[in-house]
Amino acid sequence: MAYYCVNKNAQPNGTHEVHKDGCNWYPEEKNRVDLGTHSSCKLALEEAQEYFGNVNGCAYCCPTCHRS
Ligand SMILES: [Zn+2]
Repeated sequence: MAYYCVNKNAQPNGTHEVHKDGCNWYPEEKNRVDLGTHSSCKLALEEAQEYFGNVNGCAYCCPTCHRS
């Protein structure tokens, strides 16, 4: 299990990136929506989709959920 969040600010391509706790690119508190603890990045992305329609996994901490 790991703690995830999603960035409130979209990337230039319009996606909101999901990060795992401890990532070098973990957003600042004011720039993130906390998603809670999930057993996989896939479940974290599903949760993130309730906030933002267009989400993506961070290439660094969620490579299995990253779409380039
Ligand atoms: Zn990340």
